[in-house]
Amino acid sequence: MSSFEQLGIRAEILLALQELGFETPTPVQEKAIPHLLGSDRDVVALAQTGTGKTAAFGIPLLERLDPQERTVQALVLAPTRELCVQITKDLERFAAHLPGVRCVPVYGGANIREQIRAIQRGANVVVATPGRLIDLIDRGAIDLGRVRTAVLDEADEMLNMGFQEDLTTILERTPEDKRTWLFSATMSGEVRRIAKNYMREADEIGVGGTGKANTAIEHRYTVVMMRDRYLALKRFVDVEPDLFGIVFCRTKQDTQELAENLTRDGYNADAIHGDLSQQQRDRVMERYRSKTLQLLIATDVAARGIDVSNVSHVIHFDLPGEVESYTHRSGRTGRAGKTGVSLSIIGSKDVFKIRNLERQLKTHFTYTRVPGGAEICERQLLTLIGKIKEVEVDEEGISRFMDAVELDLAGFTREELIKRVVSLEFNRFLEQYRDARDLNVDLARKDHNPRERREKTEFTRATGEMRPMFINLGTADGFDKGRMLGYLCGITGLTNQHIGKILLKDMYSFVDIDAKHFDEVLGHFRNANYKGRKVRVDEGTGGPRGDRPQHKPVGAHPGKHRYQKARY
Ligand code: AMP
Repeated sequence: MSSFEQLGIRAEILLALQELGFETPTPVQEKAIPHLLGSDRDVVALAQTGTGKTAAFGIPLLERLDPQERTVQALVLAPTRELCVQITKDLERFAAHLPGVRCVPVYGGANIREQIRAIQRGANVVVATPGRLIDLIDRGAIDLGRVRTAVLDEADEMLNMGFQEDLTTILERTPEDKRTWLFSATMSGEVRRIAKNYMREADEIGVGGTGKANTAIEHRYTVVMMRDRYLALKRFVDVEPDLFGIVFCRTKQDTQELAENLTRDGYNADAIHGDLSQQQRDRVMERYRSKTLQLLIATDVAARGIDVSNVSHVIHFDLPGEVESYTHRSGRTGRAGKTGVSLSIIGSKDVFKIRNLERQLKTHFTYTRVPGGAEICERQLLTLIGKIKEVEVDEEGISRFMDAVELDLAGFTREELIKRVVSLEFNRFLEQYRDARDLNVDLARKDHNPRERREKTEFTRATGEMRPMFINLGTADGFDKGRMLGYLCGITGLTNQHIGKILLKDMYSFVDIDAKHFDEVLGHFRNANYKGRKVRVDEGTGGPRGDRPQHKPVGAHPGKHRYQKARY
């Protein structure tokens, strides 16, 4: 293991790193820093969030800056506001002893005029989300003609969020002979395409291999009936009194409902999703960061770029549709040398998705049983005793009350007193878990479970009625019937029993969907992206049975549909 001194970093930055408490470089820093300092070639680096990647590109970026020159020499593009703010803060800390470095973050949802003024005051580093940067370019408020270094951070996330065209527009405004450094947690086909189109022949820096999971994270899963997921979640929180976690749900409504239910049941939880104003979002994040909140309930989009240290657990209340989302979600824990747990609470029909994740991430998922009442009570009791042992007694403050207290409690024996003190906090758990049933689904015996049988019978009736759905993905996107089925099940949470015939064309497909779930299925695709492209679904007429590529818009505004029939 090398030291920062050995990586060829100047004294001013070394001093800043020392003040930040960075003692040894992380693996990605060890590889990337000397490479980016010593070569003018473009670089593609595979690095998960939490591995120290900001310093890996930030330090070389600052080393190569001319602080006397007041033009935009370095441009960092990142998918979210949070990440922009975080990167800017980090760069400012690394540059604490480098006078003249002016780093300005620009992102949507904040006053654009103030951002323009900050740039015009002489920014030499700009950290931007693609959408807001395009706004600034359109207004003629920023000149990218002097950029020497461009960094694409979390490139896969930017593509997932549909920023591909914006990236093209932005990069075309920068000089051809600049250096481009692309950082990504995963190496999808889209990321490779961006690298191919916008970078000169790039060197690859890998830490741990493509799509490989961060080894600081332990992946676990537990199997319950779907209706028991909430009870299971509470038990995992109760059995781990020091748990500090992010719980992922698929939709905004789900996050809201889950947070409300948890709060009602006495847990410290709040939701973060796209419908919150920036101010509300900041407030929730502030409470979470300061650990006033124990559980942050989030959608994938809302949780992007969140960098909170010491997150002990990421909990998947719903599994995400794509492997990349799973990687990003779990990357919120196991950061900066700490370990963390990524726990999926699933129904038995989703076990195959865990197997797929294992294959793709080349990592093992450990099966974990939902803790029983006795185990939870024991852990809570031990924690309580630990607290009693550790509590600091304010001798001076309490002394004047002690005579009265002792007099009042004189009638109790030592044993009785201990029992009463412990019961004060412990009764809630004893009460809650007195007759707690086992929530685990025994996978081997699932077909013998009468409820499962009932669900199957109910479904058989439902299959009678199907409605054709149009989707703008087809064989040109690499789908065959099996992949399409897997993709639809992943996004919607339905099983293959709710999905009927599939008719694949080059650019689109028709899929028969159980009529009872049709509207809910359309809802699941509301913000869906597939490899950087917006996924559009609609009610299809014709469809698998008729083989006629027509579709009609559904929903409250039929006149506003965005699909161009002529395209197909
Ligand atoms: P990043 O992957 O850049 O988001 O970094 C994750 C966290 O690790 C941040 O809180 C950094 O401040 C911290 N960090 C990065 N590099 C080091 C290092 N060499 N030593 C200690 N902490 C680090």
